[in-house]
Amino acid sequence: MTEKCSIATCARASYALCHGCQLNFCREHTIEHTTLTQLQINPLIVEVNKMNDEIHELNPKNLYDVFYQKLDKWRIKSHQMIDMYFEKKIKELDLYLNEQVKKLKNTFNETYAKIESFIQEKEITHEQINLLTFEIQGLRKDINTIKNNDFQIQTKPLTLEKNLINFDQTFHVSNLPPIYRIIDRNDRSFTPLATDNKFLLLHHEGNLLLVDEELTTPKQVPWKHGPIYDMCYSLALKRFKSILLL
Ligand SMILES: [Zn+2]
Ligand SMILES: [Zn+2]
Repeated sequence: MTEKCSIATCARASYALCHGCQLNFCREHTIEHTTLTQLQINPLIVEVNKMNDEIHELNPKNLYDVFYQKLDKWRIKSHQMIDMYFEKKIKELDLYLNEQVKKLKNTFNETYAKIESFIQEKEITHEQINLLTFEIQGLRKDINTIKNNDFQIQTKPLTLEKNLINFDQTFHVSNLPPIYRIIDRNDRSFTPLATDNKFLLLHHEGNLLLVDEELTTPKQVPWKHGPIYDMCYSLALKRFKSILLL
């Protein structure tokens, strides 16, 4: 039996089979089908021409500027972290030095009081002289240390990891940054996590927590709806979603 043209409204017999779509066409519709197929290349030509223009306009300099700004932000933030660390240590040093001077003054006052009492009593043993000499030698050593700024300060050079900045788009486990901070969650917490690139949503000790980069929790709500199967952030709704199995 001869095949029919596959166009529903056409009763003519098949003239040719299109091997691309496995459909039979009469002579007239074979020509039409071939023309229509050829026409499908037109939008592709338009797209390729558009891409051609875009490719020629692509300038690494423009990309560089965007990435430079990102890297510069990173640099400024890193410097701020060092400055904050420095300020913290300077405050600690100030407290430490004040404490050392205070201790020294107290020890000196005690020794001075002893000497005054020995002078008043006009009586002192060899043993007491030896002890006082030992104490005064210690005081002299401590005074010299402070006067000459002879403190030992240990500093370690700051080491920068090779992968702190990475341009490679392919994912390598070795490119993962070192552990930033640890959230200590117990076994009863449900494991799914979701993020909107600003906050992390997680379940912890019966609550849903929104956690920021510093691991502080600007928001938390009690969770009383049973196990959480999954969580996600909806860009369209700009909301977090929890998925439950009911
Ligand atoms: Zn075809
Ligand atoms: Zn036909």
